[in-house]
Amino acid sequence: MNRIIIVGGGVIGLLTAHELASAGHAVTLFERGETGRESSWAGGGIVSPLFPWRYLDSVTALASWSQAVYPAFCAALAEHTGIDPEYTENGLILIAPDEADEAQRWAAQHRHALSLIDRDTFHHLEPQAAEPADAALWMPNVGQVRNPRLVRALRQRVWQLGVDVRTGDAVVDLLMTDGRCRGVRSTSGTLEADAVAVCAGAWSAKVLADYAAPPAIHPIRGQMLLFKAPAGTITRMVLESNRYVIPRRDGRTLFGSTIEDVGFDKQTTEAARDELYAIATARFPVLKRHPVEAHWAGLRPSSPAGVPFIGRHPQIGNLFVNAGHFRNGIVLGPASARLLADLVLDRPPIVDPAPYRWTAARG
Ligand SMILES: Cc1cc2nc3c(=O)[nH]c(=O)nc-3n(C[C@H](O)[C@H](O)[C@H](O)COP(=O)(O)OP(=O)(O)OC[C@H]3O[C@@H](n4cnc5c(N)ncnc54)[C@H](O)[C@@H]3O)c2cc1C
Repeated sequence: MNRIIIVGGGVIGLLTAHELASAGHAVTLFERGETGRESSWAGGGIVSPLFPWRYLDSVTALASWSQAVYPAFCAALAEHTGIDPEYTENGLILIAPDEADEAQRWAAQHRHALSLIDRDTFHHLEPQAAEPADAALWMPNVGQVRNPRLVRALRQRVWQLGVDVRTGDAVVDLLMTDGRCRGVRSTSGTLEADAVAVCAGAWSAKVLADYAAPPAIHPIRGQMLLFKAPAGTITRMVLESNRYVIPRRDGRTLFGSTIEDVGFDKQTTEAARDELYAIATARFPVLKRHPVEAHWAGLRPSSPAGVPFIGRHPQIGNLFVNAGHFRNGIVLGPASARLLADLVLDRPPIVDPAPYRWTAARG
């Protein structure tokens, strides 16, 4: 049995801990705050990249693998923990008719259901959209999860699997001897391990800043609004120009999100709130009748072309990274965690690891 340390308790750290503990290894997870309270809590939970044909095949490979396992994975989590992540396949309407050819080619190549729909079909699918576009794209099998519940369920499940979850305990240094990472120094002391995996989201490059080639990951703020509407108000996810609506099972409706390069500033702004509110209520006038229950911001871990870094440090053999999932950490997470576990444990990898290597060219 290996002793493995994970730095960061967002969805990526928790899923990685889940994989490694399920394979019988002794895992300690350090989280400087509470688990699942940063980007993984703030996100929308769409189990698909937005406009998926715009991404490299390396992103599609991880997304498709995760999409295939999500329904059963969430059902198992709910059964083991009593916390239901509410995986719901209510489909995604994408308003990008100009990209129909490219989208349909991508869908045929990767075997995803996608069709071009007309105005009437759009209206039938989502009657609350104010002015259905003359043409749109429809992906009926796209699901969503309630990401705050997903991370709560994961926290409970890894605890059940024996993971030592240390919250309120920040990793401040990596312990290095003779080019190997011996463990970590955290705010509570030191701990030795056979391998260390950095899964610290937007903060990953900070954790690795003192070592060669820190990955090119930096924070991109996203703000989101939550309307408190009754169940069934809006039923489909709808995406146009990077703004999307996500209706939850109980009617609560998310509308997001901004893309702001403002460093590690997680504050919300009045300007973004006003802009999101104006667009949301113009596209879905029914939302004017329901109060805004919350407005928040999260820091996405951006990476070049949105391709995450999953793999071994180029010089330090037992130091790994699993970070940089940018806008897609929820959808890419299960596959990323499995791939990282494959690499740590020297198992045959689920997908070719080359595009995600620390040193791979991206884009
Ligand atoms: C507004 C918004 C909408 C989004 N919508 C979607 C979507 O619909 N679908 C989708 O797939 N993705 C979406 N995302 C992206 C997704 O949320 C992220 O890619 C994902 O959550 C990244 O997970 P993570 O675990 O890497 O990072 P995080 O969740 O940020 O977790 C990193 C953790 O590391 C901890 N940490 C940092 N430094 C240290 C340290 N030194 N020691 C110990 N712990 C440390 C932090 O406290 C944090 O808990 C969205 C994101 C945002 C902000």
